Amino acid sequence: MLKIGQGFDVHRFGPGDHIMLGGVRLPHSAGLVAHSDGDVLLHALCDALLGAIGAGDIGQHFPDSEAEWSGADSAALTEHVWSLVRAQGLQLGNADLTVIGERPRVGPHREAIRARVAGLLQARPEQINIKATTTEAMGFTGRREGLAAMAVVLLQPPGGPSAAAG
Ligand SMILES: [Zn+2]
Repeated sequence: MLKIGQGFDVHRFGPGDHIMLGGVRLPHSAGLVAHSDGDVLLHALCDALLGAIGAGDIGQHFPDSEAEWSGADSAALTEHVWSLVRAQGLQLGNADLTVIGERPRVGPHREAIRARVAGLLQARPEQINIKATTTEAMGFTGRREGLAAMAVVLLQPPGGPSAAAG
């Protein structure tokens, strides 16, 4: 059976000199404030994956209240979520990911993020799309108060969608 899921995440900018985005370290004039490393793209992706398999949301799996996840590497969280997907006998069809914010510019890092996300999901880079947009200087992302991300994923059985009928 094909499974679809979507995710959304936001984190606020704070002190720091880099952010983590899609598991890639990007130099920036601010950091992101979060219980974990604040990787909005991987958090949106995790929520999309969990949504697709009907397994709730990232907050249920990695509660803010638990010290275990303090400063957590979101790539490791993603690998854990991916193991839940694999346990259901599914693999990635494709993932379409969107970063929403004015800075940092995603373009120069797009291929690195694509390759990193593909690696985390045991997929080929062609199965991952990374988009970036601004909100035309409006709203909290426009004022550079924080960064947002959206994710949509399609999961399929091994062999592709045609195997779903069998
Ligand atoms: Zn988050």
